[in-house]
Amino acid sequence: MQSAAALQVAGLVKRYGDKTAVDGLDLTVERGTVTAFLGPNGAGKTTTVETCEGYRRPDGGTVRVLGLDPVTQGSELRPRIGVMLQSGGIYPTARAEETLRHMATLHAHPLDVPALVDRLGLGGCGRTPYRRLSGGQQQRLALALALVGRPELVFLDEPTAGLDPQARHATWDLVRALRADGVTVLLTTHHMEEAEELSDEVAIVDGGKVVAQGAPDVLCKGGAENTLRFAGRPGLDLTSLLKALPAGTDAVELHPGSYRLTGTVDPQLLATVTSWCAQNGVLPDRISVERRTLEDVFMELTGKELRS
Ligand code: ATP
Repeated sequence: MQSAAALQVAGLVKRYGDKTAVDGLDLTVERGTVTAFLGPNGAGKTTTVETCEGYRRPDGGTVRVLGLDPVTQGSELRPRIGVMLQSGGIYPTARAEETLRHMATLHAHPLDVPALVDRLGLGGCGRTPYRRLSGGQQQRLALALALVGRPELVFLDEPTAGLDPQARHATWDLVRALRADGVTVLLTTHHMEEAEELSDEVAIVDGGKVVAQGAPDVLCKGGAENTLRFAGRPGLDLTSLLKALPAGTDAVELHPGSYRLTGTVDPQLLATVTSWCAQNGVLPDRISVERRTLEDVFMELTGKELRS
């Protein structure tokens, strides 16, 4: 019987000498979903992913990938997963397409190599040795190698780092196509836009633990409040405005004529603000509602700037 989740990590602990890199981490990834794995540098993401891939042995907890133990059932698991590494693992003088063809032969039902080469824009450099490929081309080849075996679950480590916008969008399309085919994707990224664009779920890791997991819009709605901004004439009577608004709403004039309200920004609040403006002869020349972004949530939870 197929286990429900593609990935089930419970209480994972991994130490390097005295250093506890992963400290009781829990993570569930449902089949057929894209999960973005986010966290500041050194949070324990790579260690967790490498443990799921079977490259590292846990010091505690359990890891099940497609229902299998990556340490004791690695040979059964490996043909069913795809792994995109940041670097390494490719022979420097091997040519791009030749490497891909070789990888395809190791799998029972590989993807069509020319189609994959075409899709990832590798056609022009198929005969180029790996070490002569540009950083972005190496990145795309690594992605192709992860996908050619038609994996059920694919681990993508910063798949668009260093890619030009065109290649980034092509990679995003590919991830969407994988999801549409029912492939499960665990995507490590430092780019919030990428996580918001692609993922069904986001797991934020800090200090070796998952500190939040959920759909991006749900994570953005929870916790802190949203913001409404408007511009009008300077010096509006904010005490009068606040009297019209529900308790818990805050209003400040950030600079002359520029106002910011924070609180539960819902349709009713917007209606109350515009009606107060009408009663006070104010025509807002700009009014906008801003949701918390994933980046705001990340900063609140980890207190850390993102690596750009
Ligand atoms: P990044 O975003 O920078 O890639 P990460 O979240 O992937 O970071 P890990 O690479 O898992 O983090 O590292 C977690 C911690 O474990 C870090 O403090 C790191 O220095 C340490 N670490 C990782 N690999 C080793 C190792 N082989 N030996 C010793 N310490 C290690």
